[in-house]
Amino acid sequence: MTTPRPTRRSWAEPWKIKMVEPIRMLTREQRERALKEAGYNTFLLRSEDVYIDLLTDSGTNAMSDFQWAGMMLGDEAYAGSRNFYNLEAAIRKYYGYRHVVPTHQGRGAEHILSRLKVKQGDSVPGNMYFTTTRLHQELAGGVFVDVIIPEGHIPENEHPFKGNMNIEALEDLIKKVGRDRIPYICLTAPVNMAGGQPVSMENARAVRQIADKYELIVIFDATRAVENAYFIQQREAGYESKSIAEILKEFCSLTDGCTMSAKKDSLVNIGGWLAMNDEAFFEEARNMVVIYEGLHTYGGLAGRDMEAMARGIAESVQDDSIRARVKQVEYFGHKLIDWGIPVVHPIGGHAVFLDAKKFYPQIKQDQFPAQTLAADLYADSGVRSMERGIVSAGRNKATGDHYYPKLELVRLTIPRRVYTQAHMDVTAESVAELYDHREKARGLKMIYEPKYLRFFQARFERL
Ligand SMILES: *Cc1c(COP(=O)(O)O)cnc(C)c1O
Repeated sequence: MTTPRPTRRSWAEPWKIKMVEPIRMLTREQRERALKEAGYNTFLLRSEDVYIDLLTDSGTNAMSDFQWAGMMLGDEAYAGSRNFYNLEAAIRKYYGYRHVVPTHQGRGAEHILSRLKVKQGDSVPGNMYFTTTRLHQELAGGVFVDVIIPEGHIPENEHPFKGNMNIEALEDLIKKVGRDRIPYICLTAPVNMAGGQPVSMENARAVRQIADKYELIVIFDATRAVENAYFIQQREAGYESKSIAEILKEFCSLTDGCTMSAKKDSLVNIGGWLAMNDEAFFEEARNMVVIYEGLHTYGGLAGRDMEAMARGIAESVQDDSIRARVKQVEYFGHKLIDWGIPVVHPIGGHAVFLDAKKFYPQIKQDQFPAQTLAADLYADSGVRSMERGIVSAGRNKATGDHYYPKLELVRLTIPRRVYTQAHMDVTAESVAELYDHREKARGLKMIYEPKYLRFFQARFERL
């Protein structure tokens, strides 16, 4: 028997593998032991005990030979490194902002931004929170206010731009608290916590109009802006024949500055930056980076890291490169959808999110269904994923109770240029196996809770 040949033509990665890193799978018993020792928190597993590591796409990228060659050209001068100027030029060329302050990673930029802009009692509107972003806003005395469209909170909703800001809610907030209590509008695209959901150019333009009307600035979390540009090219009318680089630059031009975790889009293992157009803001940021990160021409990075970033930025905006990236995530996600497994729709740009509330409906939210599912997946196949639900959401400072987010998800994040289609198949089959036996699952009890960003270090026991 032969099977019919598919009519479509497949895509393939625009690179080939030159160096490999061996990985191994522990036995079931060894995995159970490792999990127990890690307090059922996948963040506390040792990397060498993990078979396929889908914890995060942050800093887990495989660099190209051109980037590695750039590492040998590090100018490790304390001040005025040539690699800084290469980085600055790449950011100006592809993102379009005038001024660049390098930081060791995204949260370094968020820290400086929040310290400079957020005052006690301010409200910071954003399209769904991100963990480190919101924490820095809160530590500076601000309150984060979620103004994502309602569809962003509904896992099965198929809205093509589920990360969009709710323009009405944004304007209502400005009217309610007054424009003077809003340090900036925090626009993220795509929205990580909503499942990697994009923001349309049209929506960004509407945000810009509101900002102009009330004389506010828009700060863009550009961490995965290249992936967002790909979705605009694929889904938004008028952009189908524009290049990723053109779309990225147009999107950034609607904002006044950005924070960036280069550990994501920019294809490096460490790095980030804060960028802006305003001269006075730049002067302040350049002053503050010296206190917390390092001199303004290295910001906590080695010269070689900045060179790898400059080269990674240029590679990241190539159309075939970003297409292969997003298509691999979609390949994996659609496999799960075809098998009837509950995931967040549509499949996002960097990860597939399992809907743990639907997967394990018998586990109450304060018994951590997503944390449980991430632990069970590791036990089944050595695949490491991450909770994005009640543990990540943390506690309300005022009431002391958990935040109860609508979304209770397990994130399977695909590192860039690291795993093959076969790794995706192995992972999908393990998820399916758990789904077949889902009624057996029991929840967890939290036995240690750190004060900040508890998901990183919390410990659990099986109920
Ligand atoms: C990762 C991330 C950050 C923080 O960046 P780090 O480099 O991890 O400090 C901020 N925003 C978003 C959307 C992210 O995904």
